[in-house]
Amino acid sequence: MSKKQIDFENVLKHIYSELNKEVHRGQVASYIPELENVNPRHFGIHLRPIDDSPVGVGDFCTPFSIQSISKVLSLAYALKLLGADVWKRVGVDPTHEPFNFLSLTEKGNGIPNNPFVNAGAMVVSDMLYSHLEYPEREFLNFVRNLSNDSSIDYNKKVYTSEKANGHRNHATASLLKSLNNLDNDVEQVLDFYYLQCSLSMSCEQLSKSFYFLMNGGKNIVDHEFLSPSQIKRLNAIMLTCGFYNDVGGFAFNVGLPAKSGVGGGIIAVHPGKYCIAAWSPGLNEKGNSLLGIKALEMFTTETELSIF
Ligand code: GLN
Repeated sequence: MSKKQIDFENVLKHIYSELNKEVHRGQVASYIPELENVNPRHFGIHLRPIDDSPVGVGDFCTPFSIQSISKVLSLAYALKLLGADVWKRVGVDPTHEPFNFLSLTEKGNGIPNNPFVNAGAMVVSDMLYSHLEYPEREFLNFVRNLSNDSSIDYNKKVYTSEKANGHRNHATASLLKSLNNLDNDVEQVLDFYYLQCSLSMSCEQLSKSFYFLMNGGKNIVDHEFLSPSQIKRLNAIMLTCGFYNDVGGFAFNVGLPAKSGVGGGIIAVHPGKYCIAAWSPGLNEKGNSLLGIKALEMFTTETELSIF
């Protein structure tokens, strides 16, 4: 089959109708109480090909909490502002531990394994917090400019809910502080980190925001945010660290750089070709969307459009 002739709309409709029958949809995250209020029946997919019309199915316009997907946006902003200095304080290697594991390298120097485990994202948040005059406002503006969508916002209910229950993240930040890898106060860094995680987007907005990763650093209206070399590195870290201890399985089954969040969202990128967002709030035991992974696996299998 010639790749040009793929009817993306039909492919997505087929995936949606097959998977929407699924009774076993995993568990909605409950450690952030506000996330438990989300209806587990939600399911949406949005595909944005680089040279074809975008297509959405199901709840692709419903906003949800993007949680750890925001870690890619924070890292992109830090790379834009600070360049390669970012790598002095955080590593680029996968870890075989869950996302909220302390995940520091073995040298005892407080360097987290990578920017997508919580510890690494806190260090990135600390860098941004030091650099920005108005971190909350400036980060949001960065995301709105990147996505060319000024309606994107934080969800303060989710933020408050996570902050009130963030004991484990508190321990992680305190350990980083004790090892001299946080310049700002633990509370300030955590507040900013929780705000980023509380960003709310639909699948359609996610695929817009991540357009720059399939387009060599230029966003959906051709504004350059990062260089092709920086994009190469961001996509590489998504491929190797985007799914925590599920990363091998995701590469094996789906075969795309991607990032998940405990809100049940997944964004995946095929550089130069397309980006695709999927959302279903039920998670597998590793904290990644059960139906979302199945949808992406079906997509790359049926279209033969994985990076491998
Ligand atoms: N805010 C969540 C946390 O810190 C993000 C986790 C995730 O989405 N994997 O635990």
